[in-house]
Amino acid sequence: MRVSGPRAQEIAQAIVGPMPAPRAATHARFLGGDAGVIDEGLVLFFPGPRSYTGEDVVELQGHGGPVVMLELLRRCVALGARIAEPGEFTQRAFLNDRIDLAQAESVADLIDAASAEAARSAVRSLGGELSRRVHAIVDPLIELRAHVEACIDFPEEEIDPADRRWQDERIEGLVTQMQDLLDDARQGAVLREGLTVVLVGRPNVGKSSLLNRLAGEEVAIVTSVAGTTRDYVRATLSLEGVPIHLIDTAGLRETTDEVERVGIDRTWRAIQEHAGAALFIEDAFGPADEDAQLRGRLPAALPIARVVNKIDLVGNEPGRRSSDSPVEIHVSAKTGSGIDDLRAWLLEIAGWKPRGEGLFIARERHLRAMRGALDALGSARRAQAIEIKAEDLRLAQATLGTITGEVSADQLLGEIFGRFCIGK
Ligand code: GDP
Repeated sequence: MRVSGPRAQEIAQAIVGPMPAPRAATHARFLGGDAGVIDEGLVLFFPGPRSYTGEDVVELQGHGGPVVMLELLRRCVALGARIAEPGEFTQRAFLNDRIDLAQAESVADLIDAASAEAARSAVRSLGGELSRRVHAIVDPLIELRAHVEACIDFPEEEIDPADRRWQDERIEGLVTQMQDLLDDARQGAVLREGLTVVLVGRPNVGKSSLLNRLAGEEVAIVTSVAGTTRDYVRATLSLEGVPIHLIDTAGLRETTDEVERVGIDRTWRAIQEHAGAALFIEDAFGPADEDAQLRGRLPAALPIARVVNKIDLVGNEPGRRSSDSPVEIHVSAKTGSGIDDLRAWLLEIAGWKPRGEGLFIARERHLRAMRGALDALGSARRAQAIEIKAEDLRLAQATLGTITGEVSADQLLGEIFGRFCIGK
């Protein structure tokens, strides 16, 4: 249990007695209101500002168990604490300048990471990788703005042509840097969001066998987040760290059952909103009519691959047949032939390019800001009048600032921290 704020020490003292030395794990008894012992364990004291939140923080580590935890929680509340809002510890860390907004978001991304690669990228963002990259653009941008603003008071003919050239070159350089950042961020977003794939195919064509093959060495993670917006996802597997969320259409046949109907409608809505690709799986003995009907209901622009399985039974050549949509990929889940082509196609659709180190986790919000800043920089590059150039550059800086939180509306903050689980 973690207590943060100006009265953290006072509250903890009533439970464990005098505070131990800062940051030293110390054994203590946790006393209840009637002086009975609730639990015993370790107490850690982090005096502000060198703590997670930047305030005085006390951590009590007990044996766990819901009853004991609840009693300890009640004791803290009786002493004047209140239960933290979702994400509040991290929000306080942000408000007290311990971390910036991009880092705060990466805390949530780290907790939610669906693959080891995504977790590694989130840790890099937490360490400030994304923020550093943004600052590497903002700092020279500020310098440029100062320069351009200074020119505004002078008539055009009084501006030194060498100054003009320097400004143009700087804008050019910033556009290139911004484009690189956006490219890397897209990869980070792929790692975070993954690709949602609709699976179509009648029973026994080998869907399960194929999924196990695709997952390969990596464990197919069956989603356990029931009741969330992801509950139509049957399983998530990880290809090169990119989460592939699978939506099964097996349950999507016509029904008269009211309850089933609701679930089916929800799945169709999910397909409309999230699907990034569809796999039509058939065996080497031919496609099924009902699959063709399903196809008519999928979003028109959805990339589709026809996967012909069990080629080992008929002796077809494995691999990809045509580059048009729908591509045709011949595989055998049993022998594994052709599977690499299928994996490559999915990663291609996800937009994944292996980049190795240096990736950081990025959110849709970050991509939007980066695209906006790139637009503004492009507009500054084209602008003839110096006042318009100055305004475009101001806009580019303001837009980039929303990534790290240097300029942010309260509403935006509420949205970001509200998505945390309680007590982080
Ligand atoms: P699902 O109902 O579509 O999930 O199909 P399954 O994965 O359960 O496979 C149905 C049957 O086909 C099983 O007996 C599998 O062993 C078999 N099977 C799946 N893929 C292949 C393949 O590529 N070759 C052969 N010969 N059999 C396969």
